[in-house]
Amino acid sequence: MKINVMTLFPDIFDSYIGESMMKKAVDNNILDVKVYNIRDFSENKHKKVDDYPFGGGAGMVMTAQPILSTYKHIIEENKLKNPRVIYLSPKGKTFTQDMAKDLSKEDDIIFLCGHYEGIDQRVIDMIVTDELSIGDYVLTGGELPALVMIDSISRLIPGVLNKTESYEDESFEGDLLEYPQYTRPREYEGYEVPEVILSGNHQKIELWRKEESQKITKERRPDLWSKYVEKHPPETAKKNRRRKRKNKRLD
Ligand code: SAM
Repeated sequence: MKINVMTLFPDIFDSYIGESMMKKAVDNNILDVKVYNIRDFSENKHKKVDDYPFGGGAGMVMTAQPILSTYKHIIEENKLKNPRVIYLSPKGKTFTQDMAKDLSKEDDIIFLCGHYEGIDQRVIDMIVTDELSIGDYVLTGGELPALVMIDSISRLIPGVLNKTESYEDESFEGDLLEYPQYTRPREYEGYEVPEVILSGNHQKIELWRKEESQKITKERRPDLWSKYVEKHPPETAKKNRRRKRKNKRLD
């Protein structure tokens, strides 16, 4: 996958992309991340990239020209055709694991990081395909949200995680949060690992993990829990539903 980032703060990306799983993906040629400094493309003699908002109000707005020129340069340099262009924005749809899965199938993605009070709406209308938020709070810039998305998307590309790091048991798979994890030692500062985990009985361990996942999801995420229950109705509810459908047919 090729990822291109448009930002006013390119250095922010170096350290994160140069470490751990991201570095491995880049070194193995699974991921290619190029970061472009929007300021380099400003046609203003002082390399200005922002201006006062029309209609008044606090703060500055990023101007359209440097962003559109950066975009055109990326398209030309990388010979891209209709890439997804994601503008990181608190006004966007909230990013989810399902969206990460969907985006992990793309060949090319461009991320546009805003700053100050945001970006001139016209450039968003011209080039952006998706406006996405990482949550209901306002950050200073789109760089952290872009890194959050790049991380979660790239770990889903086949070959990035090794077999022991599979994402299939992780939180949000099957609408459940993950069960608690433990490692050595068996007892730490008086806290013990649940007996069942040490039993060696894989069926019992699997059942315990499933029950813990359900308990945690029900307690912490009623929204996810209702999705899960909808897809996995308890036996009696299933029977009642079948009976209702049958009665409807007889009516
Ligand atoms: N004035 C904007 C508003 O009220 O919606 C907020 C602008 S914010 C200070 C500057 C930039 O940070 C945004 O253009 C966006 O790129 C980024 N940003 C801030 N919060 C974000 C969030 N929750 N998700 C994604 N991007 C965010």
